[in-house]
Amino acid sequence: MNYAVSPPPQAHLDITGSDEKFPVRRIYCIGKNYTAHVIEMGGVVEREPPVIFQKPADSVVRNGGDIHYPAYTKNYHYEGEMVVVLKSGGHNISTKDAPSHIFGYAVGLDMTRRDHQAGALENGLPWEMAKAFDQSAPIGPVTKIEETGEITNGNLNLSVNGDVKQDVDMSLMIWKTDEIISKLSEQYELKAGDVIMTGTPAGVGAVVTGDRINVHVDGLQDLQVWITETAG
Ligand code: MN
Repeated sequence: MNYAVSPPPQAHLDITGSDEKFPVRRIYCIGKNYTAHVIEMGGVVEREPPVIFQKPADSVVRNGGDIHYPAYTKNYHYEGEMVVVLKSGGHNISTKDAPSHIFGYAVGLDMTRRDHQAGALENGLPWEMAKAFDQSAPIGPVTKIEETGEITNGNLNLSVNGDVKQDVDMSLMIWKTDEIISKLSEQYELKAGDVIMTGTPAGVGAVVTGDRINVHVDGLQDLQVWITETAG
């Protein structure tokens, strides 16, 4: 192929215990997936179809480390989430078949410019500015499903500077992982390389420059990020 400009590098994730990398095709995110978080956001808990949005593949920050406080916000929030990555996909995947498409799991952060999410909701505008910005998807290394088994419960917690802010059992997800894969595949043809952030529990809040965030999911490698000065 003779590209007019250099093609961007392939976004990817590390894999625990392997030199191979997991290539990121798309990042799907699920909103409103823990009842207590829906309530803290002022929402109504109903089992409506899951809220779906995306982040750009190159918003991934592998394994955490330093991330810049983003421009264009005064209310920058963490959302700790369990992440599922796919080795295959398709259309209209049944919940029964969904686990067979899972490559593995990781720990992630759905970083959010909350002030713009509120503004978008009030004005009927897209969530793009709130969710799909540079470095908005820190994700730790992937652990293969062969090592973890299917993750349907277990502790997910997030702390800021050592203070626990989010702490939940993942069995409390409104839409379970197999249902998320099935529902997504009704709207999109899922493919190998797809990454799914499965939603955040209650306890979201703001961070500032200098803060350290640690996210833990039982059976996976923790994710840590430090918030540094705004870039540019
Ligand atoms: Mn989220």
